[in-house]
Amino acid sequence: MSTLTQNPPTAGEKVLDFNEFMAHLKERNPGQPEFHQAVHEVAESVIPFINENPKYRRYKILERIVEPDRTILFRVTWQDDNSEVQINKGYRVQYSNAIGPYKGGLRFHPSVHLDTFKFLGFEQVFKNSLTTLPMGAGKGGSDFDPKGKSDDEVMRFCQAYMTELVRHIGKDTDVPAGDIGVGAREISYLYGQHKRLTNRFTGVLTGKSLEFGGSLIRTEATGYGAVYFAEEMLKNQGKSIQGKQCVVSGSGNVAQYTVEKILHLGGKPVTLSDSSGFIYDKDGITQEKLDWVKDLKNVRRGRISEYADKFGAEFIPGKTPWSIPGECVFPSATQNELNEEDARMLVKNGCICVSEGANMPSTPEAVKVFIQSKVLFGPGKAANAGGVAISGLEMTQNSMRLSWSREEVETKLKQIMTSIHDQCSKHAREADGYLNYVKGANIAGFIKVADAMIAYGVM
Ligand code: NDP
Repeated sequence: MSTLTQNPPTAGEKVLDFNEFMAHLKERNPGQPEFHQAVHEVAESVIPFINENPKYRRYKILERIVEPDRTILFRVTWQDDNSEVQINKGYRVQYSNAIGPYKGGLRFHPSVHLDTFKFLGFEQVFKNSLTTLPMGAGKGGSDFDPKGKSDDEVMRFCQAYMTELVRHIGKDTDVPAGDIGVGAREISYLYGQHKRLTNRFTGVLTGKSLEFGGSLIRTEATGYGAVYFAEEMLKNQGKSIQGKQCVVSGSGNVAQYTVEKILHLGGKPVTLSDSSGFIYDKDGITQEKLDWVKDLKNVRRGRISEYADKFGAEFIPGKTPWSIPGECVFPSATQNELNEEDARMLVKNGCICVSEGANMPSTPEAVKVFIQSKVLFGPGKAANAGGVAISGLEMTQNSMRLSWSREEVETKLKQIMTSIHDQCSKHAREADGYLNYVKGANIAGFIKVADAMIAYGVM
């Protein structure tokens, strides 16, 4: 046995200090506030655990996990419909392949920087570990904005993006998927270009259409999974979503299928949003109205304000939906969309459960309010892991060259969300009995990756 793995700590052995660790991280990674925020939240829960289990400190696991294995930055050059040459930045952060090929989505949004992909990739390490599937972590994308672009422009951009990305990915190396701004249309263009360049039909991307290797339920998985996670947290307290008013943000992939699963479980979703504001439908968003939203957002690519005109609901421009009372809350748009003041308002208005469909949508101050108020709080890395879990099952089906039925995949999704909830619960209990799922998710996600890293030795 390596001397590094011996327990207990030796007399006078130095412990890992949270403040020193964060100061060092910020010094080495300046100008990356979202990355600092994501690491801060993990380090806060994991450092006390590391100090109780000194092998993780001696192997410097946390210090190594925060450094991506590889960061790839590239230029993407393409021509718009007026034949003008356009230049965008391309990114792929291959974070960790300790427990499987790099795996995580691509985001196309004008606001992204390296900071964005480092925070998302870091979160992905723990999320993928929690799924119990053999997936490492990565994240990537571009500052390209698909909004307002023609299909031809999106196609030319995706082809140019893949022309560089192709040399860095592969079914056993790195398997990207969708995220904000990357849906079925973009994945299809990216996959087509990969196939053309390599002359191979492999499971190199997930979120593919059913005709060429996609999995049933992948489109629905993140939203459905976030609701299953909420249901698990509630079940633990003898409650359920049935009959509860639900506040949802976003109106993209995650929000749409969150609303759908809330309806299946008998809840009442009343809000949706996009970057221009939110709608409040006091009568509730029904399946019929939701189908109209899917067409609006996925086909016609319109704005959520049109919902208000169509169904006589309220549209509140420039605001997020957190002023609307709801016992269950599903932030499903983007990072830092819910702040301390929003959290206080939600708690005051009777919120008992928050399940994060988006990645890091609640600011650290908001998370503190929820935890102090003993709200059931499912952090994104646990609550939205259903999407990547079904991506993992898409990889399995591609390798086996077969497709499972809808029922089979949804049953597996449910089982995985229950298992994620149970793993988190194991490390979540505070002295007063409250289940702190933030702490639970961070520690449970950390252990599997850390133990694999130790097994490989120092590298
Ligand atoms: P989509 O692109 O389908 O939808 C994103 C939604 O969020 C849109 O309604 C969009 O509005 C809104 N939005 C995006 N950026 C902003 C912003 N800066 N301010 C206000 N609203 C914004 O993305 P997804 O639904 O796929 O992703 C949503 C979240 O879920 C992200 O945090 C993503 O990382 C996370 N996630 C997604 C997974 C997936 O499987 N797709 C898996 C796990 C997590 P508008 O159209 O006006 O921009």
